[in-house]
Amino acid sequence: MENVLVVGAGMAGLQTVVGLREQGYTGRITLLGAEPHKPYDRPPLSKEVLGGKTDDSTFEADWDALGVELLLGRAATGLRPADREVDTDAGPLAYDRLVIATGSQVVNLPGAADVDGVHTLRTLDDARRLRAALTPGAHVVVVGAGWIGAEVATSAAALGCRTTVVEALHAPLAGAFPDDIGTRFVPWYAEAGVELLLNARVDRLEPGAVHLADGTRLPADAVVVGIGVRPDTGWLAGSGLDLDPRGAVVVDDHLRTSHPDVYAVGDCVVFPSARYGARLRVEHWDNALHGPRTVAANLAGGDAAYDPVPYFWSDQFGRMIQYVGHHGPDDELVVRGPGEDGKWSAGWFAGDTLVALITVARPRDLAQGRKLVQTGAAVDKAKFADIGTALKDV
Ligand code: FAD
Repeated sequence: MENVLVVGAGMAGLQTVVGLREQGYTGRITLLGAEPHKPYDRPPLSKEVLGGKTDDSTFEADWDALGVELLLGRAATGLRPADREVDTDAGPLAYDRLVIATGSQVVNLPGAADVDGVHTLRTLDDARRLRAALTPGAHVVVVGAGWIGAEVATSAAALGCRTTVVEALHAPLAGAFPDDIGTRFVPWYAEAGVELLLNARVDRLEPGAVHLADGTRLPADAVVVGIGVRPDTGWLAGSGLDLDPRGAVVVDDHLRTSHPDVYAVGDCVVFPSARYGARLRVEHWDNALHGPRTVAANLAGGDAAYDPVPYFWSDQFGRMIQYVGHHGPDDELVVRGPGEDGKWSAGWFAGDTLVALITVARPRDLAQGRKLVQTGAAVDKAKFADIGTALKDV
């Protein structure tokens, strides 16, 4: 009987297993995970776990019914496709078909990992360690005003920490959005009692302090570095699999890698999108939920292509940001609002087509706008810009 080996016991790994069983696959499945924990959900780490609302975000799964050999606390260290074997730190594992779902790892500042009091946030253990450091009155310096930095600052400020965010660029989330969007996030920090230092570069870290390039010394009982992630694919070096320059596994529209019988899914892949005419890396939860369905269908003999409309959300300073679609630098930005309640949305247009939408605490805009993005229907931009007109009527 066939043996499917899934490497990476996160969201995408677990969903691959669930999808295979839903497809009626009755063969062996082995799920290998480097962390000692059963698969758990990461979005709650920066929200509920740091906020002290829960200490555990383990996914509910009926492991007996799934019938999986779960190998935890064991990392893949290499892949030999010609032998159909994955090397691990506890010996090799054979497979008939392999799914790579090793996700992302955090990028840290050079040397930061060796400095006492410096944290990153990717794992449950990271979150528990950081949570213990977020005591009322503690000086917390967050490096990076991206998705993780903003959420950590939200939680730290709510816990009574004296929180400073240091951002090298001129606006929060400047890598993801143009200035007209990024600058709208700036006041949120002060409203939450968080100091935001823009155009500020970290020169060096020492225990108890962050030194900026302009000579400023920030006291820091805890430092959280949130400057991005990269694909966790170092273990594939020398395997012969196609990786992009950033290390993401290159897959086709069926999420197949360059080697037969090896699929890859979730944060760690770059996939071609016919919808957007681009290769996409989507390091968000929704992609790790839906991609595995395509992999499972194809492993079960199907012919399923993966071409999603990307979606993600973030909870920042009491507001839920949601984004759907994919925009490029040439798309036209049209802002909708803010309304009297200060809430707003914005869309990116290619001609008359809405290709992406961001909403701030406007879930109805998201639900109605998502349909416009998905169908590609022509949209009247003047009506779109009028926050009093429902997006179902534009
Ligand atoms: P991962 O979740 O990274 O799982 C990969 C697993 O593989 C890990 O458990 C890892 O230990 C394991 N692994 C790695 N290398 C090896 C190896 N060599 N051998 C064996 N196992 C290995 N997305 C949103 O859309 N909205 C949010 O609000 C949001 N909030 C987030 C908050 C935090 C704090 C974090 C960290 C992420 C957040 N995300 C959010 C992103 C989302 O969680 C990820 O996109 C999702 O977890 C990706 O799932 P994955 O299974 O592809 O990878």
